Parts: sequence; structure tokens; C-alpha cells
Amino acid sequence: MSLPYRQIHLDFHTSEKIPEIGADFNGADFARTLKDAHVDSVVLFAKCHHGWSYYDSEVGQRHPQLDFDLLQAQSEACSAEGIRTPIYLSVGWDEQAAFANPGWRRILPDGTFHMAMGKNLDPMWSYLCLNTPYLDYVLAQIEEIATRFPNADGLWLDIVFQHECCCNYCRKGMDEAGLDWTSETDRQSFAHDVLQNYLKKSAETIRRINPDMSIFHNSSMVPRGDRRVFDDFSHVEIEAVPTGGWGYDHFPISARYVDPFGEPYMGVTVRFDIIWGELGGYKHPKALAGEIATMQAHGARACIGDQLDPRGVLDPSAYAMIGQVFAEAKAREALIEGTTNVAEVGLLSSIAVRDPGSLSRDARHIDEDYGALRILQQSGFLFDVIDCDTRFEDYPLLVLPDKVRIDDALANRLQVYLDQGGAVLLTGESGLKPDSSGFALDIGAQFAGPSPFENCHIIPEPDLRPDFIDDPFLIMCPTLRIVPTDGETLGKVYDPQFNRSPRQFSGHINTPREREPSSFSCGVRKGKLAYLPIPVFSLYKQLGQAMVRDFTARVIESLLPDGRRLTTNLPSSATTTVREGDGRLVLQHVYAPRELRGQTQLGNIEAIDALPSLADVMFQFREDRPVKDVRLGETSLDFQQRDGVVSFTAERLPGTAQIVIAL
Ligand SMILES: [Zn+2]
Repeated sequence: MSLPYRQIHLDFHTSEKIPEIGADFNGADFARTLKDAHVDSVVLFAKCHHGWSYYDSEVGQRHPQLDFDLLQAQSEACSAEGIRTPIYLSVGWDEQAAFANPGWRRILPDGTFHMAMGKNLDPMWSYLCLNTPYLDYVLAQIEEIATRFPNADGLWLDIVFQHECCCNYCRKGMDEAGLDWTSETDRQSFAHDVLQNYLKKSAETIRRINPDMSIFHNSSMVPRGDRRVFDDFSHVEIEAVPTGGWGYDHFPISARYVDPFGEPYMGVTVRFDIIWGELGGYKHPKALAGEIATMQAHGARACIGDQLDPRGVLDPSAYAMIGQVFAEAKAREALIEGTTNVAEVGLLSSIAVRDPGSLSRDARHIDEDYGALRILQQSGFLFDVIDCDTRFEDYPLLVLPDKVRIDDALANRLQVYLDQGGAVLLTGESGLKPDSSGFALDIGAQFAGPSPFENCHIIPEPDLRPDFIDDPFLIMCPTLRIVPTDGETLGKVYDPQFNRSPRQFSGHINTPREREPSSFSCGVRKGKLAYLPIPVFSLYKQLGQAMVRDFTARVIESLLPDGRRLTTNLPSSATTTVREGDGRLVLQHVYAPRELRGQTQLGNIEAIDALPSLADVMFQFREDRPVKDVRLGETSLDFQQRDGVVSFTAERLPGTAQIVIAL
């Protein structure tokens, strides 16, 4: 299906206590404001989290302070300007339904209502259970919207979760299914089935009425490892509000997973400073520009979240900013269209293997996946995030971060991949059999179990050391132990003299190391298979030490058969992706340095307010095909191509830039 390029997600969660809804709405002005801001699609509201409808519904209730069909008026005005209008429906939260039918609410195991945050009396959204008659209510609303708005481009269904629930309907359902509602595992298993039932029935309802409608279910994250989840989606949108709890890693890790599916998809951020619907909050325009450029660098279409003022008028300052950012985005689209990401590393997502399809909140922040994203990204590698459905042979190197245990099926696939010339990096527990009895692959070393020490020092072989260290350096976490047999050691391990305890400790943090190395290695390599007994990726996510990152990057680089594809002198906080299509390679550069400036209960506030230019940036890209031309915007860059490497320098590289290598 086609997907718009520049979308606004126009929230409208509005209490019945707010008067004169839509009183200042003017359809022509509304659509013109969007059109002038280069918006080609706007998600409009049928029903908000408060449970009020914004159209003449016979199933739900129109907002009591709205005296006309606002959704119809918005749709008609937008259609007249050629703007698409997918329609939003709040599924998991509906305050009206929760108040009128408390039996439809989701009940936690302790007997209390499940709230979005806090407890029952907190001013916060209530979760509804999709295993109650509420499901019929939602399906009737979906049917009404799909019928009443045949020209809508699709349905955007929100808060699509079903956590474990102990309501009467669920307990009865579990009894009938032979499940035990006192068991957390059984409750989660039942909740999974309830969610699948909702996904199937809602999609069937929509497709029965209009098979061409787009369908997107928002769970605020993209689950990895079970692609059947997307069977009832027409496309994927990645909600990732960096300052609102998602952080700046959520978009790239999700995008690098979704992009290789080969279907158009969309990133979603907000124009607000911190989070959705923060009325009167404005993100710095440079931050918005950096976020949209980052989406495009990963091949995504762009959506910006906004919330309509209750009186129905779009915010002029917001649309001035959005218009500027979308104009810049529009100018970049032609070069990205039809391209695919160039990747030399396939990062096999740990959560995709350990808990395929997980939608748990914890699955949003998996240390080893996020640490691997950061090390690969900051070290300038070109990579995708993959799962077990991916063709491994498409990548010269696979990285299995820290916690990917290997069963027989995966071991067989990896052995075939290695036999065909692929390279694999295993770290931490990755590579161990599920029962920890040893390694599932021949790593060229004997497994000696976990180290009894709380940390260690390592000194890698000279070519694997960080540039700035020639001495043993601290690994601030427990590791496993290996003794190389027919594998090549990657360096030595020094144990501490003793573990810290109430009876003995030395210094502030860690005990001095022994003078002599232990008999264990800090890594081993056999052929193209390397193993580090250190959970380097989790460690980097937690402590962010450059020495750990640079050591890991050296190991990764050593495994790439022809070395890295792209070499630059860019700082680690810059991101460059390379996309290929139709006789061109497009290097997409974003330099949007972030600064920690605040914190909310949802997480850190990392601010961006500049996209600095960089001087004398050198690029070397391994490319055997003859290069015709290298351009940065309108400027032709001098380049050389020797021994399969094209080299060029950008004297001034703007904070967001596209460099096109014509083949
Ligand atoms: Zn329930």
C-alpha cells in the first residue's frame, strides 16, 4: 500500500468539562494550515481516551460540548485539499466506558483497577479489558467509522495492549480454557490470546467493509521476533517520543528492525517539548528537524504528533515550525525513495530470540540490544536489527548480544552460515546452550563457568585495544571464563585480589588486580567465529565506557572480511546511514548532539537545540563499482577511487546532509 510522507497525528483528548468544542473551527483554514505546512496526511479523532466521539455516533456518545460533526467537517475540508485522513480510535482507554461499565475494566492480580499510571483515584486513564463486552462496543465503533467514513484512508487504533487481567470475564475464560488464573504465566498466556482475538476481529471488521483501508494498531513499541503480530496491520508506525520515556534509541532500534521488511513505514514523534498533548509546550525546531532527518536516514516516512486546541484551531507557532521541518524533509524524499539500507552487520535482537513478540514494558529497554545499537551506531558500522526469520546470509557478520542462548535449530543455522563464509560474534551468555552445559558451537575454547569475581581487568591483543589504552583495563561486571584450546586468544584476564565484602575491601570501588594474568582469556577466535566472555553490550548500556565500546568495535571490525565499509572522522554522536537504490548510494548524515537537561518520572530529558556543521569531514567508502560522481546537495565533491575505495572530503558538512554517490 502507499503510505503518506508527512503526517500529523492530531490528538484531541478532551474532557467534557471543557466548553465550546470546535467553536472556532473553520474547515478551509484548518486544511489550508496543514497544506501550507506540507502535510499530506492527518490522523483525525473519532473517539478520544475520555471516550467521547467527535462525530454523530449511534454507538458511542458525541462530546457533550460539541454541537456538530467535527470529524466529518475536518475530513471534508482535508479531502478538498488532497490531504489523507486516517481516523483515530482509542481502544485500550475509554473513560466513559470505564465509568459506565466498571465490570469492563481490567483488574490487577491484587484486585485493584489497572491504570495507565498510579491508582484508581489518580487523574489518569483506566484500562479496559478486551475480553469483556467492551470488545463488542469497540468493534461496533470500528464498524460504524468504517461505514460512515468510506473515504477515510484507514483506522489508527490506539492503546492496543492486553496485560494479564483478573476480571470476572478473564477468570471465567481461563477456567474454560483449562488455565490457572492464580498462575502469572497462565494469565499472560490468556492475555496474549485475548489480544490476538481483538487483532483478528478488528481487522476482519474493517476489511469486510473496506479492504483498502489502512490498519495500524499502536502498542507504543514494535515487538521483535514474531512477525505474525503484523498480520493484521497494513503498515507499521514507530511511536517514539524521545523525551517522553522512549529515549533517543527507541526509534533507531525499531526502525533498523522494520526497515528490512521492505515495506513503507513511518516514525512518530511530537512537536511538544516533552510528551504528547503537553499543551503550550514547543520542541526546539532543531530537535524536531534532527528527529525527522533521523527518520529519513532510516528510510522512514515522518509523522509529527500534535493536539488540537479544544476550540478547533491549529496552533500557528507549531505549524510554522512543522512547515519548515516538513519542507526540508520533502526536499530529501526523492533521493531516499526506493532505497534500501546497506548493512554489513546483522544484529540479532536478543529479545527477539528470548521472548519473541513481547509487548512488555521491559521489552522497550533491553540492555544488551540497546548497548549493541549504541556501540554499532557510535562506531560507524552499517547494520540492521534482525530476528530469526531473517536470511542470515544477507550479512557478512552477525552479532549475538550477551543473552542469546542457542538451541539446536539456531546452532544448525549458524553452523551453515559459518561454513558458507559468514562471521559471528558472540558475547556474554550468547552461544551457550539453553541449559548452560557448554557452547552450542565450536568456539575454540573450553567453557570454565562463571568467574567467582565481581569484576576483572583485561588486556586485549595489541590490534584490539582502544587507541588510548596499552594497559589492563577494568571490566566492571562479572564475566564468564574460557580457556582457549585450538582457538586464538584475544587477550588476557587479570582477576582482582579479592571480592569486596563487609570483612574486606580496598579503596572506593574495586580491589587492585593480581600482578599476573589468570589462565583465562578475554576472548577467543576460531576462524570467523569470535566469542567474548564479557557482556560488553549490557555493560556499555549501563556505564557507557568508551574503552569497552572501542574494544568491542575493534573485535567487530576484525571479523568483517574486508574491513568496515564506511570509514569517517565523524564524532561518535553523529549518525551516518548508507542507502542504495537505482544507481546511487545515499549517505545520510545527522549530527544532533544531545545534552542531558532534565528528568521526569518517564526518564531523562535529553535536549537538542543545534545541528552543528562539521569541517573537513573525510569519508572512505568501500565500493568496487565505478563511481561517476559524488555530490553534497548541489555541490560536486572531488573524489578518488582506488583499490575499491572511494574517498572524498566535505569541507563543510551541515548537521543534516545527504551525500549522493552516483554509480
Ligand atoms: Zn479481563
